[in-house]
Amino acid sequence: MLRQAVSPYRYSLILVAFTAGLMVMPAFCQTAAPAVAHELRVFDATLIDNTVDPCDNFYRFSCNGWFKRNPLPADQTSYGRFTELAELNHLRLKQILEETSTPAASRTPNEQKIGDEYASCMDTATVNKLGLKPLKPELKRITRLKSRKDLPALLAHLHAIGVNAFFGMGSNQDYADSSAVISFYGAGGLGLPERDYYTRSDAKSAEQRQQYVAHVKKIFMLAGEREARAALDADTVMAIETRLAKASLTMTEQRDPQNLNHPTDVASLAKELPNFSLAAYVASAHAPAAGKANDMEPRFFAEFNTLVVDTPIDKIRTYLRWHLLHAYAGTSLPESFDQENWNFYAHTLNGAQRQQDRWKRCTSRIDHEMGEALGQVYVERFFPPAEKQRTLDMTLTIEQAMDKDLDGLDWMSAATKVMAKEKLHSVMNKIGYPDKWRDYSTLAIMRGDAAGNQMRVHAFNQARDLAKIGKPVDKGEWDMSPPTVNAYYDPQQNNVNFPAGYLQPPFFSGKEDDAANYGDMGSTIGHELTHGFDDEGRQFDKEGNLRNWWTKEDEQKFNDRAECMVKQYDAIEAVPGVHLNGKLTLGENLADLGGLWLAWLAWLDKAHAANVDMTATTAGYTPEQRFWIAYAQQWCTQTRPEQLRTQAQSNPHAPDEYRTNTVLQDLPEFAKSFQCKKTAAMVNPKPCRVW
Ligand SMILES: [Zn+2]
Repeated sequence: MLRQAVSPYRYSLILVAFTAGLMVMPAFCQTAAPAVAHELRVFDATLIDNTVDPCDNFYRFSCNGWFKRNPLPADQTSYGRFTELAELNHLRLKQILEETSTPAASRTPNEQKIGDEYASCMDTATVNKLGLKPLKPELKRITRLKSRKDLPALLAHLHAIGVNAFFGMGSNQDYADSSAVISFYGAGGLGLPERDYYTRSDAKSAEQRQQYVAHVKKIFMLAGEREARAALDADTVMAIETRLAKASLTMTEQRDPQNLNHPTDVASLAKELPNFSLAAYVASAHAPAAGKANDMEPRFFAEFNTLVVDTPIDKIRTYLRWHLLHAYAGTSLPESFDQENWNFYAHTLNGAQRQQDRWKRCTSRIDHEMGEALGQVYVERFFPPAEKQRTLDMTLTIEQAMDKDLDGLDWMSAATKVMAKEKLHSVMNKIGYPDKWRDYSTLAIMRGDAAGNQMRVHAFNQARDLAKIGKPVDKGEWDMSPPTVNAYYDPQQNNVNFPAGYLQPPFFSGKEDDAANYGDMGSTIGHELTHGFDDEGRQFDKEGNLRNWWTKEDEQKFNDRAECMVKQYDAIEAVPGVHLNGKLTLGENLADLGGLWLAWLAWLDKAHAANVDMTATTAGYTPEQRFWIAYAQQWCTQTRPEQLRTQAQSNPHAPDEYRTNTVLQDLPEFAKSFQCKKTAAMVNPKPCRVW
């Protein structure tokens, strides 16, 4: 939970949505298309629409064929090439899980865990029959809360079982000293996707708030409350969450790590919270009672401290009860809860028309809960060792391209260049899967106990996370599971991470040439690398410390150049009345543009060294043209207007159409490859450029 706020997912390649009841889940997993029957290709000439002028709309030119072939399925909020591969991975994981869910003495301990958890998740008869029974002890604990003195211990327990009430506490690297792991305290406690849902003043947002209150009421009724009582309770939840939201930083504010860095220690933080015994909380959480800490959002904690005394205890109980039900309302509770949960989060907020199949949701659940137990089998079966070496080779050429590119930057001083190069040379490349697999031996998974398993998994993960405080940082750990179709850069560890799930067609193929592979996966490698030098990443040094290594003048020049992109994306209206947020998306936009540029440079070098004939055509396109088409085709995506709205308002990644066209408009090299006129739509007369 806390990791959401500081998570390197924010630096990842594609969007990550927050799905209630199943914790954090990538949006591209919430899909249910038929199995992929055709061969996935990196450069696919059959997807091109020749009736569209590439200089007019390159995205449509490259993707229209794909759009025709892939109508958006009813149970999806968006469907793109990432989903296409995720679908394939889902089927592979299903195969593993179905095999391991058959009780057999030959199963390894990890196979027993993932198999029995899958069987429990799929067993709707038992889940329905048990009803709220598995949550009864937890509901009782909440009912027994009689005074705020008992709140810290109760909250520590609820946090351990994955209930996102009020705030989050976990371990993280110290911003000032990346070699130290300390405790981080972060804002939390909301049921809507993020704080601006509570504060936006437009009519649509007001409607969404009403729909949210209706959803909370419905869940309370499903839990046995009468309608009038449930309505009052839903209002209570909304009132408390609105206070918390107003005291929280916006997503844009959170993008500046300086806003999240407030070093303190546990004892001093306790003094800031006189109405809430932090000592009792950390004791119950089995977290260190002393030592360095970071209060990520002091204004939020000040509000929390006030809230716990001026809110009657029965209202706090109501709020906690809601968050308990909310946390378990996915596959762990009867289908009536599951359905209502889907109805609000997937249908109302994001436009899905049908719930995805349960097997797929259970597969995602196991991947999220025990991703390395499942991922280990996945890697053995579906990730040949040669792929790891190929990706590594490609990464090295792109790092070399950046090294060369730094030499040629006309706006950066020699002093800053030296530091930038040091940082670049220190980047660690992590490819495929961890060298050391996570040890799940102390986690107990019981067949037929979906809710209990969810609690134990959370408690296991929480204990594991808190045990890291005070110990040396382990840079070998991964924040994404091996089957994940995504990638990320971690600024505090200065490493790039490419999970095995991503390193395959349609993003990379050993059967296709460099033009295609560099345009596609090469641009992603460049993207993650550039995150180390975007508006957030550049604030961290080569060791991952939040320390300014820029001269004042260079910093100003960087900001001026970045401002060009802020304005460029601010001007884009994604859905009627909703513009993109240039500041929120700045890091991703910088990474997209810089990443593609680096891939281009690396590929040109390689092509020249190999004497590639730049005039020879394949399927009618030159190598240069295929490089750009492969780049565009990775972003072919259909998105529902509801999800597009959510994405434009809350996601640091711009919608895929702009990740294609807007980026290419800034690259004159693209226009040259297609002989676009200066006045063409795909040519920005004043292109933005940072890296
Ligand atoms: Zn990114």
